[in-house]
Amino acid sequence: MQVAHDLRHDWRLDEVLALFDLPFNDLLFRAQLVHRQHFDANRVQVSTLLSIKTGACPEDCKYCPQSGHYNTGLDKQKLLEVQKVLEEAQRAKTQGSTRFCMGAAWKHPTAKDMPYVLEMVKGVKAMGLETCMTLGRLDEQQSRELAEAGLDYYNHNLDTSPEFYSQIITTRTYAERLQTLAHVRDAGMKICSGGILGMGESLADRAKLLLELANLPEHPQSVPINQLVKVQGTPLADAEDVDPFDFIRMLAVARIMMPKSHVRLSAGREQMSDEMQALAFMAGANSIFYGDKLLTTDNPEADRDRQLFARLGIQPEQRQEHDDDVHYAALEQAVLQNRGSELFYDAAAAQ
Ligand code: SF4
Repeated sequence: MQVAHDLRHDWRLDEVLALFDLPFNDLLFRAQLVHRQHFDANRVQVSTLLSIKTGACPEDCKYCPQSGHYNTGLDKQKLLEVQKVLEEAQRAKTQGSTRFCMGAAWKHPTAKDMPYVLEMVKGVKAMGLETCMTLGRLDEQQSRELAEAGLDYYNHNLDTSPEFYSQIITTRTYAERLQTLAHVRDAGMKICSGGILGMGESLADRAKLLLELANLPEHPQSVPINQLVKVQGTPLADAEDVDPFDFIRMLAVARIMMPKSHVRLSAGREQMSDEMQALAFMAGANSIFYGDKLLTTDNPEADRDRQLFARLGIQPEQRQEHDDDVHYAALEQAVLQNRGSELFYDAAAAQ
């Protein structure tokens, strides 16, 4: 069998649909082959996510409890103080996380916000953690400033296909999203971009989302695939469930199309059984968020993740870019020794 492992940026829709159309076992087999050529299949990257500014967002993303357009009873929170963010990052590092992601519910950061945000990046970076942020739209200068401050990843999801997009968001265009991704890429940062399943999109929309991502000039280094978390008060509160096998298919096709990217099993993990998460890892997902909250929705609690990793023989992946090999060898050793105890950042205890 021909295995598509070369990095391609010229995927065609018929090819992507053909992958979705494969018998489930054949698709998973292909995804596994591709996955094992580029990754240790028994390692999963673990990130910690902190909401640095919560709620009252001017955007109208229909899936999002943080949108100011919907009443979801969410506790709003202004931008956290830099010191508080650094304390949380230190805590995440001490307990084994390798990447610290900071999310703000903004349309875009303002000139007033930027100095604080840059301080957060510098501080977290200085701890030896990988840094990631999601702050909404960025212009060229903001992207440069963030890159210079040491931001490794910028998250900006495409969410769905260009065709379906306007049914989900009307306050920001698809083209604006692509523009932000271009600024981030041009500034030399890595891109984290993916989408959400379960918003009423068709199979073709899912295929077209992957087509958009894979045909970018560079594959996003991180591709989060979310399952809609239905939140009362949002317009998608009563959306139909995604067939679990269709969700797994999406992960597998993403793995095949973007062989070197980390495919992240992201929001919606709380609703997934252990068996489904195991299938997701088999399909090539190799990154998760850890913590009891994924921004504002529940994320599986510490014990369940620890137990699942242990039951599956999965270990957390360490940083790939070793500024200081000795330091990271020691960290890896410490993490392995502490497996099952202090391995994960317990966001619940940090409240
Ligand atoms: S997804 Fe982001 S941009 Fe959209 S409403 Fe939520 S916080 Fe705002």
